[in-house]
Amino acid sequence: MTNTAKPIIRASFSDLEIGRRRTFGIISHPDAGKTTLTEKLLLFGGAIHVAGAVKSNKIRKTATSDFMEIERQRGISVATSVMGFDYKALRINLLDTPGHKDFAEDTFRTLTAVDSVIVVIDSAKGVESQTIKLMEVCRMRQTPVLVFVNKLDREGRDPIELLDEIEQTLQIDVRPMSWPIGMGATFKGVYNLHENSLHLFRPMRQTVAEDGISVRDLSDPLLDNHLGGQAIRLRKDVELLEGVYTTFDTERYLEGSLAPVFFGSALNNFGVRELLDTFVAIAPSPRQRYADQRVVSPYEEGFSGFVFKIHANLDPRHRDRIAFLRVCSGRFDRNKFYHHVRQGKSLRFRTPASFMAQEKTLIEEAYPGDVIGLYDTGNFKIGDTLTEGEAIMFKGIPSFSPEIFRQVVNIDPMKSKQLESGIRQLSDEGVAQLFIQEYGNRRIIGTVGALQFDVIQYRLEHEYGALCRFEPLPFYKAAWITAKDSRELEAFCKYKSDRLAQDKDGNLVFFAESNWNLQRAIEDNPKIIFSFSSEFMQIPLTV
Ligand code: GDP
Repeated sequence: MTNTAKPIIRASFSDLEIGRRRTFGIISHPDAGKTTLTEKLLLFGGAIHVAGAVKSNKIRKTATSDFMEIERQRGISVATSVMGFDYKALRINLLDTPGHKDFAEDTFRTLTAVDSVIVVIDSAKGVESQTIKLMEVCRMRQTPVLVFVNKLDREGRDPIELLDEIEQTLQIDVRPMSWPIGMGATFKGVYNLHENSLHLFRPMRQTVAEDGISVRDLSDPLLDNHLGGQAIRLRKDVELLEGVYTTFDTERYLEGSLAPVFFGSALNNFGVRELLDTFVAIAPSPRQRYADQRVVSPYEEGFSGFVFKIHANLDPRHRDRIAFLRVCSGRFDRNKFYHHVRQGKSLRFRTPASFMAQEKTLIEEAYPGDVIGLYDTGNFKIGDTLTEGEAIMFKGIPSFSPEIFRQVVNIDPMKSKQLESGIRQLSDEGVAQLFIQEYGNRRIIGTVGALQFDVIQYRLEHEYGALCRFEPLPFYKAAWITAKDSRELEAFCKYKSDRLAQDKDGNLVFFAESNWNLQRAIEDNPKIIFSFSSEFMQIPLTV
């Protein structure tokens, strides 16, 4: 052997580790069944043994003053932020996403750290607003999507109609992989179109067994034996389906243009095994990612990763925070020095952690696809990149246009420094977006939900000792603006100075008061590019 033997062996071991990782998130509108499905997947993976072990991370606003309750509930979502389990020799990392719409920005950012997603849809409600928003982010990033239509044990909508709605509202082609037989009281089970097998429905909430009955094809009399009169309907349905939907194409799934669809009932553990088995068969392992300078392959030897989420410590006596980092290439080692690109300094981590349903474990190493929690005393901002020395920053961790805008008014002039630094740090954490308006030196905070203002005000007071109030602003949307010709931009800015600001990175932002205003501004200024996310991304994050 030559003296290069060692790195080659290490690299091939890493290759195996990368190849067996599947990092994904589950997205849904609240109440569609995300928590229930998560729990069932963890049961299959042996990560938990009883139902009820996964706490819902739903934020419920009990009373307007109950901020600690909000934080406590957010605390649950920290503990369950990443749920790792092994299934069929694969390492599955399930990244949890907050269900509450006011924390949708958290979810957007979490989606930048996954390689694929499972979308859960309630069969009675169909595609709901939150799902549409989250899918926009997936589409932008060309994330492969698998759909699980849930709650078939209840009366729901016609499955064909649901598929049409998914195609239209989520703008993705679909391919049913299984087909429901009846629903609600008449729900008999599903027919697996891929394997020609029949899965009969038996309500069972705790166990993980789920066997299918193999049939030759649709003409098999076994179907009549088990389904009686419903077999005729099934044959008709499938004939129709095969005429309408093209065969499943893994390549199109991987490029995010075709979603396989499953039907089942997470609560009854039905259809979940099929979903998981298909997921492990087709979901991508960690892929290449765009950085500002170049494309980074997970198989490179040098470590790199980015921070996509920061969570403050719930204990006010400790100001440390946990930064969640997605490993993109190489191998992360505990206690090794890494390069913090934005700050240009070296950092090492003595207690990097992985999280698993309420448990935190110290880790020695991590591979691409893994998410690790790093204790942070204020070094990190969302989007920060760590490397072994190279000055690259990962792309695709954008801010999206907020929906509610308020001006910060300091009510304790002695504490203006604390207020300024508190607001900056909270915006680094991604709690809200900060815009600074030169005109009048106004501080404007933008969020996607009203709940964040309560959280911000509470945290500013308790963590930074700063008191403020918020004044509503009549803005409808923020658009990041650029132009090829800087003179065009200057001319535009001249007439709109009262509606312009800079985001925390110095990018120019235009506030529109209404959709009409926005459309007019776009029409009247064809040379100005208006974007609704801070990165103006035309390219996907993963390739
Ligand atoms: P999440 O908000 O998306 O996390 O939804 P949950 O998993 O908390 O589920 C919301 C509600 O729907 C809970 O009461 C669940 O018990 C119920 N649920 C989840 N899956 C099913 C299902 O397959 N059938 C029925 N009937 N109820 C379900």
